[in-house]
Amino acid sequence: MKAIFFDRDGTLNIDSHGYINDPKEMHLFLSSAEVLKYLKLLEYKIFIISNQSGIGRGKIAPDSYRRVNDKFLMLAGGYNTIDDILYCPHTPEQNCNCRKPELLLLDIIREQYRIDFKASYFVGDKITDIYCGKQAGLKTIMIDNSDSGPDDKFFYEGKVVKPGICIQSVEEILNIIEK
Ligand SMILES: [Mg+2]
Ligand SMILES: [Zn+2]
Repeated sequence: MKAIFFDRDGTLNIDSHGYINDPKEMHLFLSSAEVLKYLKLLEYKIFIISNQSGIGRGKIAPDSYRRVNDKFLMLAGGYNTIDDILYCPHTPEQNCNCRKPELLLLDIIREQYRIDFKASYFVGDKITDIYCGKQAGLKTIMIDNSDSGPDDKFFYEGKVVKPGICIQSVEEILNIIEK
């Protein structure tokens, strides 16, 4: 089974100020829903892997997270399109093993859905997404719409991390994914 793992905020939806705690602030990028639907037709499983440290920091109440997530799921096509959504609620200081680039959430999905990582992708807007995907042996796609400067964008903990492919917006995925 092949899959595409997506980061959520800044990759599929607008990440207005870092912590989305109100469903009214959840807006997909224009083509996200269409892209997801099409990838599903290509028989990719679709998973969302999201760091939500705002929960651990007390900026997003667990119930707000659920309501925001419900809105995301509805806009993205529901469980017909999205196979599963996993998130880490911890802060970096908690040193958990589920916050990207840690691999626990990917490992859980690989086990549960028997995903072939060599045939699968990780798509994200941050270098931690790319580092995470590479560590897991996934192909990586960086959506370079983040506001970090050109100098620090491709570094993780002092090391250069090169995305497999860099694109400007989510619809470009359709040109590069193996059909
Ligand atoms: Mg992001
Ligand atoms: Zn965690």
